[in-house]
Amino acid sequence: MSDDPLDEYRRKRDFGRTPEPRPGAAAGRDAPVFVVHRHEATSLHYDLRLEVDGVLCSWAVPKGFSYDPRDKRLAVRTEDHPLEYESFSGSIPKGEYGAGTMTIWDRGTYRVVKADDMPAAIAAGEVKVVLSGRRLRGEWHLVKTQGGPRHWLLFKSKDRYAGPARDSVLGVDLSSAPAAPLPARARTMRTGGDAAPFTDLDWLFEMRFEGRRVLAEKRGDAVRLRGLRRTPPGIAAGLRKLRADDALVDGVLVALDDDGRPSRAALEPGSDAPRQLYLFDVLHFDGFDLRGLPLLDRKAALRAIVAADPHVLFVDHVAGRGDELASAVVAAGLPGMVAKRAASRYAAGPSSDWRSIDVDEDRAPATSRGPAARRRVRPTNLEKVYWPAEGYTKGDLVEWYETVADVLLPHLRDRPIHMLRYPDGIEGKSFYQRRANEQLPDWIETVDVASDSKGEVVPHMIVNDRDALLYLVNLGSIDLHPWLSRRGSLEQPDWVVLDLDAKESPFEDVVKIARRAGRVLRGIGLRPLLKTSGATGMHVYVPLVPGYTYEQTRMFCEGVARVIARELPEISTVERTPARRGGKVYLDYGQNRKSQTVVPPWVPRPVRGACVSTPLEWDELEGPLHPTDFTIRTAARRVDERGDGFRAVLTDRQELLPAIEALAEWVRG
Ligand code: MN
Repeated sequence: MSDDPLDEYRRKRDFGRTPEPRPGAAAGRDAPVFVVHRHEATSLHYDLRLEVDGVLCSWAVPKGFSYDPRDKRLAVRTEDHPLEYESFSGSIPKGEYGAGTMTIWDRGTYRVVKADDMPAAIAAGEVKVVLSGRRLRGEWHLVKTQGGPRHWLLFKSKDRYAGPARDSVLGVDLSSAPAAPLPARARTMRTGGDAAPFTDLDWLFEMRFEGRRVLAEKRGDAVRLRGLRRTPPGIAAGLRKLRADDALVDGVLVALDDDGRPSRAALEPGSDAPRQLYLFDVLHFDGFDLRGLPLLDRKAALRAIVAADPHVLFVDHVAGRGDELASAVVAAGLPGMVAKRAASRYAAGPSSDWRSIDVDEDRAPATSRGPAARRRVRPTNLEKVYWPAEGYTKGDLVEWYETVADVLLPHLRDRPIHMLRYPDGIEGKSFYQRRANEQLPDWIETVDVASDSKGEVVPHMIVNDRDALLYLVNLGSIDLHPWLSRRGSLEQPDWVVLDLDAKESPFEDVVKIARRAGRVLRGIGLRPLLKTSGATGMHVYVPLVPGYTYEQTRMFCEGVARVIARELPEISTVERTPARRGGKVYLDYGQNRKSQTVVPPWVPRPVRGACVSTPLEWDELEGPLHPTDFTIRTAARRVDERGDGFRAVLTDRQELLPAIEALAEWVRG
């Protein structure tokens, strides 16, 4: 090694061509920093960089991080990088060293443990660091191996954060959670009104426990229930087990009567009734204020934080079906439940996003009808074969939609729907329908759409519940075709969609193009989503903050498509005429138009194999992949294991204008 640790970094780069920082005079801070770059180069990998003596010591980790200590990941030591790299993200041009997109995946500070200093630990081939980031927390271990001069292994140490094999501490995106000290004072959020039991997928429902509302605080091993003189020892022990250094959580302190039921009387001072703490929300985690995150994310975070304990328990919820939970509440002898809007932030004091629902035994049977009684649609001709090659029937299709209704319905909500009906299966005749005709039952909602050409008004169907969904499926709708905009804002699309339309091109080409589309979009600061089309292509989405017009989204998408077509001219094209496409993948930006539709995630397609449009993680493009991997026979398991996978399209709304500017820059540069 030469004297200047950055010689290799300089030697490998032409600073006239790469946007990467030239080594400068950046000074180290009080606490040394770390950064992890997600680097989409020839092959995707993660670069872990730790500040040591004025430079960033770097390791490339092809498989990324895992919180499961048994996962030992290869980490290849690479050249030291300058400190300026800590804030670098951007695209390194083709032909340059490390060409591809570099995004900051996590950053924060760290400290070295069980060694005098980092240079000594690195020289000894054994490094233990405690990372304080949004994804990476707790102690991580790097050990040099005999496998090669630069080969190390990276794995999680067994500490309070160790757990399942995911790569982020809570499994929730904390990028929008501001860093903040644990608040010394905080007002609890309260219900702002009552309601009768109801069903609405925008809401979730929790059982309500009789007891004393408390905020529980954890700072290291110091735990307490705010406002109480004394924290019961069992509860204190349970709070110490929370998977966090610091936390502020919200819940109800409950005392159990002789029958083991929560009882207010048993809470009176002097009672020695056993106590339990039921937690239903989290305000703060390890230096991050979570109150601005949607409730569903806070609950996922809380679930990840609460360890198994007899005294400190996580309050689970039911999504959407409040009237079904009502019967369970009655059975459990509880007084009621709380309805909470799934997307709501944690606000101080009463809020209309939380509603109290009383359930008494007299009323419960009348309001909590089971699904069978509520069903208004009984699908017919279930034996009819829809997919002859596989023998799948209409009954199989109905069963599929029953299974995925909860994850699918939010993607349809309030959108005009077009139908492509296949009453005799995929090999029979099909016809297109967008008008909601007179035969439609009156309980199906519709929205009037003024047709641009003739000034005529065409009512379109809206699918906001299971019954409406099953009604359309029963008409022979195999997939569903919702608009990109919703009732009330039909002129403003909720997302940009780039349709990678493959037809007869090989799927490997689609994968290659999708990877490039991801790089381009991330390179201009966006967080795109990806799914298979269910047929031969893929769809790339960018959800938007409200207010953009179809003209804006279409022009933007055309710009992106042209960049891709220029970079991958052998396999992709923006040529509109099919005959002139030469077998290349068509980058179709034309769907970004009022009254155009794109199939939502989780619908099966009228194609051989009954393949389903399936959300993908971007990293899955690096492994073996084929559209036939996901069918109405196999994809339900994926929904079980991973959930929707596309929910961010409804929540992670992004600004387009900065991306339009960045794209223009890209095209010029
Ligand atoms: Mn790299």
